[in-house]
Amino acid sequence: MAYAYDDTNIFARILRGEIPNKTVLETEHTLAFLDIGPQAPVHVLVIPKGKYVNFDHFATDASADEIADFTRAAGEVCRITGVGPGEGGAGYRTISNAGAHGVQEVPHYHLHILGGRVLGRMLAKPD
Ligand code: 5GP
Repeated sequence: MAYAYDDTNIFARILRGEIPNKTVLETEHTLAFLDIGPQAPVHVLVIPKGKYVNFDHFATDASADEIADFTRAAGEVCRITGVGPGEGGAGYRTISNAGAHGVQEVPHYHLHILGGRVLGRMLAKPD
């Protein structure tokens, strides 16, 4: 299965420094920054620097180093933002939307980390 990556997507432009972002954490292979339209008091996007369209693309084609770096960075964001229960936080939710049924808007793999309030049930039916 070939994944077509669109270099003009907004997160590619953020990674190229063409658009500013509010960085929470940057590592060798990963960038975490505040979502521009937060849906909870804590809403951070974690993205790989590599050109991956969605989770299954990343999980299939990324190197072990990239995957480890990304996973560790996401865990660090939970700690930095204070939502991680392991650090006494009240909890969070991670979401990764993919494709049409996932209602993915930006075609560069990203993990949403949401917290800071009770988030309700996991899924709502479409309007
Ligand atoms: P998706 O629906 O693809 O899972 O989520 C895309 C997310 O990217 C949305 O939550 C949206 O608010 C966020 N977003 C879109 N454009 C920008 C931007 O230019 N900067 C930042 N920080 N977030 C963005």
